[in-house]
Amino acid sequence: MTDCVFCRIVARQTAADIEYEDEHVMAFKDIYPKAPVHVLIVPKRHIASIADLTDTDIDVIGRCFLAARRLGEMKGFAEKGYRISVNTGPDGGQVVYHVHFHFTAGRARGHGA
Ligand code: 5GP
Ligand code: ZN
Repeated sequence: MTDCVFCRIVARQTAADIEYEDEHVMAFKDIYPKAPVHVLIVPKRHIASIADLTDTDIDVIGRCFLAARRLGEMKGFAEKGYRISVNTGPDGGQVVYHVHFHFTAGRARGHGA
């Protein structure tokens, strides 16, 4: 039993509202949504942080962005748009140390952080 919450979701040991899944990637609703649509996209293989990425991870990180494109299409935001963000490390606001892409949509936002 892993102590990583997102590994547990991937292994279906913890419940989550799964929005997309393929061999390498899973996407599920954020439990505390900060936007009308808030989905987390994760590589199924545990990678703690962007700060730990290696060449081995290039393919799966690309697949996370493809999952984002699919979510955008599935949820009807391909034209209107959406935001993808990644918090990294303590000052970056990362709380869960399993790489995840926040996919948020449903509210217009300006430029900047
Ligand atoms: P971070 O700050 O690490 O970038 O974001 C972690 C995100 O994971 C937060 O938005 C938080 O609401 C979400 N989260 C934390 N625990 C769980 C959980 O058990 N299930 C789901 N679906 N989301 C979670
Ligand atoms: Zn993990």
